[in-house]
Amino acid sequence: MVDASRLGVHQGQLGPICDFCGARLTFGQALPIDEKWACYECYRELTGAESSVDGKQVEGLPID
Ligand SMILES: [Zn+2]
Repeated sequence: MVDASRLGVHQGQLGPICDFCGARLTFGQALPIDEKWACYECYRELTGAESSVDGKQVEGLPID
């Protein structure tokens, strides 16, 4: 269950607030990290999960 004191209204609906930058989010946008909510940008920064997401080519791989 989500702590109601940490919720805000965003885009007309009740939703979580990013615990890292304070952005108001919808449940669809909020990404859970441990017991906290993060927006997509904070999530990416915190997890470092950006290199493989945007389809960047990795150079230097041997191709057999
Ligand atoms: Zn954030």
